[in-house]
Amino acid sequence: MTNMPQEVAIIGGGPAGLLAAQHLAEAGHRVRVFEAQATVGRKFLVAGHGGFNLTNAEPLPAFATRYADRQPGFEQFLAYFSPADLRQWVASLGLDTFVGTSGRIFPTADYKPAQLLRAWLRHLQELGVALHTRHRWLGFTPKGLRLRDESTGQETEVCPAATVLALGGASWAKTGSDGRWTQAFQEIGVRCVPFAPANCGAEVAWSAFFREKAGRVPLKNMALSCAGHTVRGEIMLTDYGLEGTPVYALTPALRAALASGGPATLLLNLKPDLTPEQLLEKLRKPRGGKSLAAFLEQALRLGRPIPMLLRELAPAEATATPEALAHLLHHLPIPASGLRPLDEAISTAGGVAWDELDAHLMLRRRPGTFVAGEMLDWEAPTGGYLLQGCFSTGAWAARGVQAWLAEQ
Ligand SMILES: Cc1cc2nc3c(=O)[nH]c(=O)nc-3n(C[C@H](O)[C@H](O)[C@H](O)COP(=O)(O)OP(=O)(O)OC[C@H]3O[C@@H](n4cnc5c(N)ncnc54)[C@H](O)[C@@H]3O)c2cc1C
Repeated sequence: MTNMPQEVAIIGGGPAGLLAAQHLAEAGHRVRVFEAQATVGRKFLVAGHGGFNLTNAEPLPAFATRYADRQPGFEQFLAYFSPADLRQWVASLGLDTFVGTSGRIFPTADYKPAQLLRAWLRHLQELGVALHTRHRWLGFTPKGLRLRDESTGQETEVCPAATVLALGGASWAKTGSDGRWTQAFQEIGVRCVPFAPANCGAEVAWSAFFREKAGRVPLKNMALSCAGHTVRGEIMLTDYGLEGTPVYALTPALRAALASGGPATLLLNLKPDLTPEQLLEKLRKPRGGKSLAAFLEQALRLGRPIPMLLRELAPAEATATPEALAHLLHHLPIPASGLRPLDEAISTAGGVAWDELDAHLMLRRRPGTFVAGEMLDWEAPTGGYLLQGCFSTGAWAARGVQAWLAEQ
């Protein structure tokens, strides 16, 4: 392959890379996408297996706060390619979205995420974007990029006028996001913050008895807290511990508690809609000889496996009086012993450190090379914030490429 001036290379065919490719092709650049896997968008399609949550209807200033304090620039990235722009982009591909009750934005039920990806790839083809699958980026050369054709094993160098790296995080390696790219960054002295699981389950050392008897069961309408942060929603009891949206959203607090060596305690509120007084009033009603399990079922509709969970986690005296029981039902301590392994996580914290990038997401040590998507050091909760973050940084990096090429 020879050097072609004004050609832009996109490495990584996930949502961040493909959107950067689209914007740059629309701006008139010759764009080539290099993807290590046999097909592009594998994690995008995995995201479609559950509820495929494209973005969120939360208004912009609040939306940006989801990307935590140490992630500068997100307000700007989101303003440049906003949740409304994302919906409009889907509409431009001939497909619709709708806002769910929680504010989450989904594709309408009459098409599958694979259809969205196919429509997108058709559009990219019409724009002249060249897709080179089975092409793995191996690292930087003094002037360009080293690639390996995975079909033939042959290595080549490409020297594009600008590059966008959108290689993803380090979870669900089978989709291609294996995080192996950090080595190439270390070779040129670019600092990467170590990866950590985000939006993942919490491990709890259940007794063998509880693990066997409770099984996998949802706890609906709960509130879960860690280090002063509280999230409501459905929690799933699993053989390894807990999962579900509230657990995922508390990963940063849980990770910090585990790292400080202190007790990583989750507090479960089993009746978040009742005030302490209302709860106490219900618990003060005479039990009439009923067992605790039958009483909780009748007075509070807390059936199986709640009594078992209380026995598993609290001493008998914690349920002995209405006052103690009311406190316990609002603050059931669950000791988390760890987070699930990185590869299982929905997303990854860590990645290219922000101080290695300028305001255009260009690597300071490698002018003309831009970085976008989950490989940047940010994290956000589920609810559409992950894909939106990838799309917005992809669009922003493409904007940076255009500005940089115009300057050259
Ligand atoms: C189970 C699951 C469910 C999810 N559900 C949602 C959801 O509902 N809503 C939401 O907002 N987000 C969701 N996400 C997260 C979302 O899918 C990711 O955040 C997003 O795909 C990341 O986009 P990206 O473009 O940065 O990276 P990726 O999508 O990971 O793409 C990176 C690409 O780079 C390629 N690559 C890596 N290394 C190389 C190399 N050396 N050379 C060439 N190519 C390389 C990879 O093969 C991959 O195709 C979910 C994730 C998972 C795992």
